[in-house]
This record gives sequence, C-alpha cells and structure tokens, in this order.
Amino acid sequence: MIEDVLNFRVHHVFDTSFSRTFSLLESQREFVKRFKRKEQDSKTLPMLTSACPGWICYAEKTHGEMILPYISTTRSPQQMMGSLVKGHFAEQQGLSPQQIYHVAVMPCFDKKLEASRSDFYLNEAETREVDCVITSGEVQKMLEEKNVSLKDVEPAPLDTMFSSVSEDEFLSHSGSGSGGYLHHVFTYAAKQLFGEEVKELTYKTLRNKDFQEVTLEKDGVVQLSFAFTYGFRNIQNLVQKLKRGKSPYHFVEVMACPSGCINGGGQVKPLPGQNPKELLQKVEDLYKEERTLSPEEDTRVAELYQSWLHSVGEERAKELLHTHYHAVEKMINGLTMKW
Ligand code: SF4
Repeated sequence: MIEDVLNFRVHHVFDTSFSRTFSLLESQREFVKRFKRKEQDSKTLPMLTSACPGWICYAEKTHGEMILPYISTTRSPQQMMGSLVKGHFAEQQGLSPQQIYHVAVMPCFDKKLEASRSDFYLNEAETREVDCVITSGEVQKMLEEKNVSLKDVEPAPLDTMFSSVSEDEFLSHSGSGSGGYLHHVFTYAAKQLFGEEVKELTYKTLRNKDFQEVTLEKDGVVQLSFAFTYGFRNIQNLVQKLKRGKSPYHFVEVMACPSGCINGGGQVKPLPGQNPKELLQKVEDLYKEERTLSPEEDTRVAELYQSWLHSVGEERAKELLHTHYHAVEKMINGLTMKW
C-alpha cells in the first residue's frame, strides 16, 4: 500500500469528482438564478467560474470591485471537500474538526493559496478546512525519492465514502479537463430556462484553441452564449471586453493555465526526451476515456443534500457551499507612485 511506502498512514481516500458534483450543481443553480435576475442587476452576467485560484487571485489583485461581482460564489471542488470533511464527516465520526488532518492532491500550487484563505479557516475550531495541499508532481517526487513506481505498489480497495465509484471504477464528469463547468451549466440552463434537451455541445474556436464558445439558438435568436477562456492572454482579453461592456457571454469558464487544469503547473512533468504536447494529449485522452456521471443523476450527492444540508438550515448550507471574494487594495509607496 502506498502509505507504507510514504511512511504515513492515510485512513480514508476521498475522490474530488464527488465534491465537484456539489460544485457543479451549485454552479448550475446559481447561474439560473442570475439569468432570471439579469434585467434587475447589470452585474449578474456573465457569470465567471470560481474554481481556479490563479484566476481569482488575479481578479482580486488587478480588477477588484469591477470584476468580482461577476464571479460565481460557488466553492471550488477542493473547498467543497473541505466542508464535507471538516463538517459532515467529522460529525459522523464523532470527531472535532481539529482531530482530522485533511490533505488534498491537486494539479497546481495555487491550490495551496486557496486552502490558506481566511474564508476557509474555521475560527471556532481553530483549524483549516484543508490542512495541506500537495500537487500530483510532488506525489511523484515523493515516490521517486523512495525509489517506488506506482506499478509496483499493491492496489488497495477503493474508498466508497465521498467517492464517485461504480463497480470499482471512478466516475468523472463530461466536458473539459477543468471540471466541465461550461458543459454542465449549459445543458442544465438550456433545459431549465428554454426547455431544450442538449445532448451534444458544438464548440466554435475563436482566437485560439483556448478561447471557444457555444451557443443555444432558436429561430436564429441566440438564447445562451457561453465560452471558455484559458490562459492569461485570453483572460485579459475577456476582462477588457467586460470593462467596456462588450462581452457577449452569459457564462465563461475561466482557467489561468493554457489548456486548463490538465496542464496545471503542479502536474507530473514529461520524462526526459518526452514531448510536452504529446504528454498533454495523452493525459487529455485518458481523462476523456473515464466513464462519466451527470451531477443531477448522482443519487449519493442528492441524499447528502437531504440528510446533511437540509439539517443545518439554509443560511449555514449557503456558507458551506459558497464563498466570498475581496478586492486587494493596491499598495502605494514612494517606489510605486507615479509622479
Ligand atoms: S487552471 Fe491551472 S491554476 Fe487554475 S486551478 Fe487549474 S491547474 Fe490550478
């Protein structure tokens, strides 16, 4: 077992696809609410996704109050798992949140910053919801330091608690390798708002492969206009359009890394001589091979909404599933001041 190799004991391994189901469901509902309010409040749309801390840090530091109202308040999958582990799981096990050490394995270093935000610190229990974040590349390095290859490690049965597991196989979500936010919010909104059942999405590439859009049209009229924009070059373009009031979108999946999370800075690096583009393609193909489950069909998550979230009350449930953003004041000192 891997824990014998790494010299620490892991009692449970949960699956981020499971907490991502909460994130996708909340994003879908939040979008539909915002869409219905769009005539009363000009800052409800486009709704910009919130799962990428690289993008959130940039928005808070660079564009503050101008952009923050557009960002979805739904927590990322990492911080949804934080709520589940230090809230529901702790209660079920009769433990205090402090008695649990929660480690997340993630594709980038920015996820460490996300875990350390004050919004995700439990003041009463004096503990973080996610205590430590390590990247997949760091896991690989730890194994290499011990001279261990994953192929040689004896497999352990999958943990079925807080995991999207079916017949010994993890289930993922359709759409991009960054969580599939655009895909799931689009199909849900098309059904809820316009009664349209969308089976397949048709993406149109704009400036480059990291900026694509999808529309829902009826009788030549655009009803929904969604896009994904990856990498800071495309993000800056989107932000400039928003500032000028010229963004045509209702929803944008925003990710800081070019090609999204499968290309995150903390992911496993290419082997010597391996072409990085080929590795990326291989990772993407493997990701797409996984069996998928629609968030609305996940009965175990639906049960938790009933048994856990309904019992804590509406206000508390909102805190557990959503978050806040804070504009960072620009520092002005003698060196940065322009005279
Ligand atoms: S896009 Fe990159 S920075 Fe953003 S969450 Fe994914 S891996 Fe992290």
